[in-house]
Amino acid sequence: MQTSQSIIQNCKTWQRERSNSQADVTSTVSSLLNKIQQEGDTAVKEFSQSFDGFAPEWIELKAPEDYGLEPELLQAIKDAGSRIERFAQFQKDKLIDSTYIDDCGEFGFRYQPIERIGAYIPGGRFPLISTALMTLIPAKLAGCSERIACSPSAHPAILAAASFAGATAFLKLGGAQAIGALAYGYESMEPVQMVVGPGNQYVNTAKQLLSQQIKIDVAAGPSELLILADESINQEWIIADMAAQAEHDPQAQSLLVSDSLELLNSVKDSLESDLELNSLLENQQIILLKADDNSDMVEFSNQYAPEHLLLADERIEQSFLSNFGSLFVGENSAVAYGDYCSGPNHTLPTMGTADRSSGLSVLSFLKVQSIQTVNDKGRQKLSAIGEKIAEAEQLVWHQRSMAVRSQ
Ligand code: NAD
Repeated sequence: MQTSQSIIQNCKTWQRERSNSQADVTSTVSSLLNKIQQEGDTAVKEFSQSFDGFAPEWIELKAPEDYGLEPELLQAIKDAGSRIERFAQFQKDKLIDSTYIDDCGEFGFRYQPIERIGAYIPGGRFPLISTALMTLIPAKLAGCSERIACSPSAHPAILAAASFAGATAFLKLGGAQAIGALAYGYESMEPVQMVVGPGNQYVNTAKQLLSQQIKIDVAAGPSELLILADESINQEWIIADMAAQAEHDPQAQSLLVSDSLELLNSVKDSLESDLELNSLLENQQIILLKADDNSDMVEFSNQYAPEHLLLADERIEQSFLSNFGSLFVGENSAVAYGDYCSGPNHTLPTMGTADRSSGLSVLSFLKVQSIQTVNDKGRQKLSAIGEKIAEAEQLVWHQRSMAVRSQ
């Protein structure tokens, strides 16, 4: 078990060790995208066949009730969708177009939806039904008019969820080739302007590499959980939480950081006594770290910048924690609730990027546009200010365009 002196220094190495295995992925994905750019649909079909063993397929969506799901599952999808929609609507209601008026005119901004978006729904290892809800519902509320769902899985529950969440088209296609098809266009589909949604390293690398050409949401890669706990925590609950995030992917990472050696040893014993959990420990999908004290725990957390942060230590105030994708306060707040149905989005920044970016929300799908209307008095006043600066910059025509208005 790592102890305090080293955990803070080594904080970023946990992230770095994972990103080193990236180099190979980047070169594979980069040549795949080049080929798609040059050869178009033929290359997309070829990659889909070779990585997934199927040809891409457009699937016409039916009503959620028409997929023969067991009624309880259908109801759960609708309930989760309604909660996700409620949270997204709550966020949207806070985004209000605004204008102020001063003696020079009217100055304001408005939110305008991105028109065409692609939502990637992972389906390699597991069909992530909930991701269909998490990506498509905020896009619908934002007002994006074309919302293309893309997944390697056409599991009936994914189709039902995509239909409930308002996808306007569904393309069965996975991996980096799906992101390439969305960005460059595929068959009758025009290139989209934005691609959102989580995925494995191939999917995320494709998003990163195409980010000059399309807007992407966030580096939502292999899942991460950091738990800050004191010794009073329910160990069975947090072991389940760590295993839950770790089971997503061999690259996923769940960390428990505590200043209680007693807690850490006891959790370690439990993990080692279970074959499946012990393998997660050995593969470093679960990591236990000893901190000296609370301030070490906070410093570690802020530097590591986890995707999910579970705060189960009452000595630590929320306001001390600056970098995380989503914060779960108290041991009742299982991260799995956030994965499925509590309301906030589960598409969140990973690999340390939570120190500068946030998860998916309605805001992600909106452009903030400024609008200005200068009045007659403004012509005089703004010219006097602007002309001086343009003159210093030696931008003659800038100066002229103001000068002619000030007469
Ligand atoms: P996926 O749909 O992301 O990827 C599957 C695709 O990867 C396949 O269709 C295939 O085309 C491609 N692929 C697989 N091996 C390949 C190879 N060797 N070369 C090229 N392409 C290859 O599904 P997944 O693999 O199950 O991954 C889902 C990921 O999403 C997990 O890492 C999970 O942790 C993550 N996730 C993240 C968040 C978040 O918000 N950060 C949320 C949910 C899930």
